[in-house]
Amino acid sequence: MSESSTIVWFRQDLRLRDNPALAAAAKRGGPIVAVYILDEKGEGDWPLGGASRWWLHHSLSDLGKAISERGGQLVLRRGEAGPVIKQLIKDTGAEAVYWNRRYEPTVVARDRALKAELKEAGVEAKSFNGSLLFEPHELRNKQGTPFKVFTPFWRHCLTLPVEEPLGDGPRKWPAPKETLSGDTLEDWELLPVIKWDEGFGPVWQPGEAGARAALKKFIADAMADYGEKRNRPDLESTSRLSPHLHFGEISPRQIWAAVKAVGAERGVFPVNAGAKTFLSEVGWREFAHHLLFHFPDTPTEPLREEFAAFPWRKDTKGTLLKAWQRGRTGYPIVDAGMRELWATGWMHNRVRMVTASFLVKHLRLPWQRGAEWFWDTLVDADLANNTSGWQWTAGCGADAAPYFRIFAPVLQGEKFDPEGDYVRRWVPELAKLPNKWLHKPWEAPAELLERCGIDLGKTYPSPLVDHGEARDEALAAFQALKKE
Ligand code: FAD
Repeated sequence: MSESSTIVWFRQDLRLRDNPALAAAAKRGGPIVAVYILDEKGEGDWPLGGASRWWLHHSLSDLGKAISERGGQLVLRRGEAGPVIKQLIKDTGAEAVYWNRRYEPTVVARDRALKAELKEAGVEAKSFNGSLLFEPHELRNKQGTPFKVFTPFWRHCLTLPVEEPLGDGPRKWPAPKETLSGDTLEDWELLPVIKWDEGFGPVWQPGEAGARAALKKFIADAMADYGEKRNRPDLESTSRLSPHLHFGEISPRQIWAAVKAVGAERGVFPVNAGAKTFLSEVGWREFAHHLLFHFPDTPTEPLREEFAAFPWRKDTKGTLLKAWQRGRTGYPIVDAGMRELWATGWMHNRVRMVTASFLVKHLRLPWQRGAEWFWDTLVDADLANNTSGWQWTAGCGADAAPYFRIFAPVLQGEKFDPEGDYVRRWVPELAKLPNKWLHKPWEAPAELLERCGIDLGKTYPSPLVDHGEARDEALAAFQALKKE
């Protein structure tokens, strides 16, 4: 047992349970110094978006409380991680620094360099796997190269053992004798000054308890039907665990174990088709992290290089982009999604695909502009998942939807929001329109529109582009690219 302190550097692992770095520090013995470091410049080229800052504020507040209830302190410091850690070592006399790994390219490079530097200085620097079932550097296909197709990737993963989650973290925090200096959360001003976040509070409970509650609710209420209903944005059919997973308030190992526990008394795993599909979605998260790790340029560059020359439309004044961002494209399912995103910091996966496809294929604007907007507005903004989602939809990523598969927004709306509840909720100006016309108001008879209080172009926009024309133009652009 050591007498010297261990620094546990919290990052995207804002939990006490199943936290390998924390568990290792407790095992090492001696006081544990918990620190979170805010690097305002952003780690890499992706500074925290507005919605992520909101989540981070509340998640850190929750973690700080949990640590102090156990008798410890979550130290908050700001700046470049390396110098801050070195200063903290000086302040505490710590002889070990432990953290859980992240997989963003610049973070990987920074962490590697820091680990080497600390070791050189005689400090025990160790990192752990706290956020994936299977780490990217462990996985290779039969040819010895990284997987680029999901199905064989996941099939391979399913042959590997998944570790059981670790325990609940120290009941009584082994705190250093002195209180350490640090910022307060308020100093960091993570919450927006202009109150665009009012819709977030009623929807989310950031922090470990909120994550566990979301998982419990999903397993009890929705998992059995997940396979059939997961594409329906009008129903509460998915887990909404994505921000909790991104910030590491819950680990995929905990999710795996909780799903495995259902039906365990009968020795059945997975207990039903819903559970199997749900775990494979967690598998998509693994795949996205695997891709980001092996193809570090993908947040900005298409994985399929030929797409770099795609003839995007010029939108010099940004009018098309703005209409999309604000949910004013004239296509109800697209507008509902973009407004849900703005109001709650989240959007249903099916609608993410539809809105992303609309930006890239109907408006022919670069997928990177969409990825940036999502990055700023999603509470679950995640460099791996966001990048793979956008590249998949644009048709330029690994295992992507072929470019020529263009989501038709009207059909998507009619199929996945059949009663129109989702559109009515987020686009209330169309609420009175009967289902038959709800997803295509421009085809509704004029006198019906009038009766429903809709004046197209005034109370609700006319379609920004014509679906058929936009589709033909997108396909022509794709053909031109292929010829080149
Ligand atoms: P559930 O259906 O309950 O799935 C459980 C978990 O599996 C999710 O929480 C998530 O961690 C993971 N998951 C599910 N689908 C995917 C997927 N397609 N790719 C990777 N992981 C998945 N997800 C993010 O977490 N952050 C993002 O920034 C993000 N950006 C996206 C951008 C686009 C254009 C698209 C098409 C998808 C994006 N996704 C992103 C993936 C997916 O939409 C969300 O993970 C999902 O909607 C979250 O809701 P949920 O937690 O209820 O998911």
